[in-house]
Amino acid sequence: MTRVPLRQALADLPPYVPGGRAPVGAAAFKLSSNENPYPPLPSVMAAIVDAAADINRYPDMYATELSEAIAARLGVGTDTIVTGCGSVAVLGHVLTAVCEAGDEVVLPWRSFEAYPIAITLAGAVGVPVPLAAGGRLDLAAMAAAVTPRTRVVLVCTPNNPTGPAVHADELDAFLEAVPSDVLVVLDEAYVEFVRDPDVPDGLAVFADHPNVVVLRTFSKAYGLAGLRVGYAVARPRLAAGIRAASTPFGVSHPAQLAALASLDAADELLARVDRVVRQRTRLLDGLRAQGWEVPDTQANFVWLPLGEASTHFAERSIRAGVVVRPFAGDGVRVSVGEPEAIDLFLEIAGEHLSR
Ligand code: PMP
Repeated sequence: MTRVPLRQALADLPPYVPGGRAPVGAAAFKLSSNENPYPPLPSVMAAIVDAAADINRYPDMYATELSEAIAARLGVGTDTIVTGCGSVAVLGHVLTAVCEAGDEVVLPWRSFEAYPIAITLAGAVGVPVPLAAGGRLDLAAMAAAVTPRTRVVLVCTPNNPTGPAVHADELDAFLEAVPSDVLVVLDEAYVEFVRDPDVPDGLAVFADHPNVVVLRTFSKAYGLAGLRVGYAVARPRLAAGIRAASTPFGVSHPAQLAALASLDAADELLARVDRVVRQRTRLLDGLRAQGWEVPDTQANFVWLPLGEASTHFAERSIRAGVVVRPFAGDGVRVSVGEPEAIDLFLEIAGEHLSR
C-alpha cells in the first residue's frame, strides 16, 4: 500500500470513458468513438513502415516538415502551427500555457468529456454553460459567463456529442462581446464533415481575431486516430508559448510521416468523408422518419436524447451488434460508420420505438 498522496483535484475528476471494443460476432460494428470506418490507405501504411526504420532515433521535436505541409494547405505561416499527441493533448498544452492556478475556463456543457479533465489538470476552474435547445452551444450565455478571472473560452464546433456547429452570426456577436485578452479556442475536430453554409471556417475567424486559436486533428476525417496527431493554429507568440508547454517529441516519427502521406492523399481521404456525410444523411433521415427527435449534426455522429433510457438503450444496441456511446441520464451518441452498420443501427432504433 503506497503512502504517496495524489493531487486532491484527481479525486474529483470525471472519468474519460473509452469507446470500448466491438463485440465478437457476425455483425459487430464499433460506432462509439467517432472513428473513420475506412482502413488506412496503402500509401499511409507504407509511410509508417518506412518510418519504422528510424525509431531508434527521436522524432523531429517540432514536426517541421509536417507543420510546413499543414501551414501550406491552410494558407497560414508555419510559425502558427503547433503539433501534439492528438488535439486533446494540444488542448492541454494550450490551457497550461495560458492559465494561472484558479483562472476560469468557460466551456459548453454537455460537450467533449476531455474538457473538464484538461481544465482541472491545468490547475484552472471550469465554468460550464448549459447548451441551448437542439444541442446547440449557447454562445450568448457563454459570453455572459466571462468574468475578469476568465482566461479561455472553449467553443466546440461541431459540438461533441450533440452535433450542431456554431453559425457565423452567433460567433461574430460572441467574439465582439468577449474581451480581446481572453483566448477563444475553436475546437474543429470534425470540421471536414461540416456542410452547413452558415458555419464559418475557423481559419477565417482566426485571421480576423488574434485571440482565437483553432484546434484540428488527423484522427477523424484523415483516419489516423491510432497515431495521435493533432495541432493548433495560433498567433506566433501564442504558438511559441504552447510549444514551450508541450510534451517534448510528442508526435512520433511514424505519426509525422503518416500525417504527411495523408495530406498528400487529401483528395482521396476527403472523398471518403463525402461518403460518410451521405451515410450521416441516411441515418438522420431514417431516424427522423421513425419518429426520433434528433438534433442537426455537422459531424460524423448523431445524438439521441434518450435521457434516463440512454444506458439501457446502449446495452441493447451492443447486444444487437452495434457499440454506441451512452452518456448516462442524457443521451446516446452514434458514430456514422459503414452502410451496413447504419442499416443495423436503424433496425435497432426502430425496434426501440415500437416496443
Ligand atoms: N475535440 C473533440 C471535440 C473531439 O471529439 C475529440 C476526439 N474525440 C478531440 C478533440 C480529440 O481528438 P484527438 O486527440 O484524437 O486529436
